[in-house]
Amino acid sequence: MMEQILKNFFLFLSKNQGLNKAAKKWGLRFGAKRVVAGETIAEAIRGVRELNQKGLVCTLDHLGEFVFSVEEANESADYCMKTIEAIYESKVDCNLSLKMTQLGLDISRDLCVGNMRRILDTAKRCGNIFVRIDMEDYAHNQVTLEILHELLEDYDNVGTVIQAYLYKSENDVESVKDKKGNLRLVKGAYKESPEVAYPAKIDVDENYKKIIKQHLQNGNYAAIATHDDAIIAYVKQLEKEMGFSRDQFEFQMLYGIRPQSQLDLAKEGYKMRVYVPYGNDWYGYFMRRLAERPANVAFVIKGLFSR
Ligand SMILES: Cc1cc2nc3c(=O)[nH]c(=O)nc-3n(C[C@H](O)[C@H](O)[C@H](O)COP(=O)(O)OP(=O)(O)OC[C@H]3O[C@@H](n4cnc5c(N)ncnc54)[C@H](O)[C@@H]3O)c2cc1C
Repeated sequence: MMEQILKNFFLFLSKNQGLNKAAKKWGLRFGAKRVVAGETIAEAIRGVRELNQKGLVCTLDHLGEFVFSVEEANESADYCMKTIEAIYESKVDCNLSLKMTQLGLDISRDLCVGNMRRILDTAKRCGNIFVRIDMEDYAHNQVTLEILHELLEDYDNVGTVIQAYLYKSENDVESVKDKKGNLRLVKGAYKESPEVAYPAKIDVDENYKKIIKQHLQNGNYAAIATHDDAIIAYVKQLEKEMGFSRDQFEFQMLYGIRPQSQLDLAKEGYKMRVYVPYGNDWYGYFMRRLAERPANVAFVIKGLFSR
C-alpha cells in the first residue's frame, strides 16, 4: 500500500516540468550519480569503457525530456549523432537508445521521423551502430510502432521496446515477426490505465514470460531487460528446454542497478548490456527509477546531505 503511494508520488514528480528545469542547473544531485553516468559525452564514454573492461556491453542514452520546439528537437537529434560518432571513434562496445518525444514527436511526426533518419544514417556510416527506440507512455505507443515499421523499410539497425503490461503487447510482438524485429522486452515503467494495461503485477509477469517465449519462438532477437531474478531464471530455463542460441538474446539492466548480477551474468557467458544514461536532463529518469523501487529513496536522503 505504502509502496504504491510512493510509486505514484514519484511518477507524479517525474512529470513536474518546473523541477525538471531546475534540476538541469543543479548538476547530478540526490544520489542521481548512482544511476546516471555523467553529464558530458566524455564522461559517458569513460563510464562505458569501464563497463566494457568488465565484460559488459552498453547502450548510451542522452537524457532529454519535455521537448517543445523544433530547435530543441533538432538539437537533441544532433546530440544523438554526436554520441554515435563518439561511440565509433572511441571504439567502445556500445549502441544508442533514444526517445521519440526527444526528437520532436509531440511537435510533428515528420520532424521526428526526419530526425530519426538523420540519426540512422549517421549510425549506418559509423559501422551500422544499432539504435533502440525506447517506449514511452501509452499515448505515444501506437505512433512509435508505426514509425518503427516505416523505418524498417529502409534500415536494419533500428528496433524498439515492447511493454508486457500492455494488453496489446502480444499483437505488437507478432507485428514484427516477419521483419526480423529486434525487440527489447520489458515489464513497463509508466502509470497506465487498467483499460490498456494489466493492473496486477502477477499478470504483468505472466504476460512478460509469454511474450519473451513468443518472440524467441518467432526466431527474432530479444533483449530481455529486467532486474527480476525469476524472469532471468525463466529465460535460462527456456534456453535449456527449447535450445535457443545465446546469439539470439541478451540481458539488459540499468546502470547502477544490481551491478553484481550484471557481472555474474556476463561471467556465465551471457551477453549483458547495461543501459547507460547521461546528460543534465536527469530528473525525470531518476524519478522513474525511484518509482520502480521506492526503497531506493534511502539513497536520495543520503544524497541530500552529501555533496
Ligand atoms: C535496460 C532497460 C531498458 C528499459 N527500457 C524501458 C522502456 O523503453 N520503456 C519502459 O516502459 N520501461 C523500460 N524499462 C523499465 C522496465 O519497464 C521496468 O519498469 C523495470 O525494469 C523494472 O522492472 P523489472 O523487470 O526490473 O522487475 P520488477 O518486478 O520491478 O523488480 C523485480 C526485482 O528486481 C529488483 N529491482 C527492480 N528494480 C530495481 C531497482 N530500481 N533497484 C534495485 N533493484 C531493483 C528487485 O529485487 C525487485 O524485486 C527498461 C528497463 C531496463 C532494465
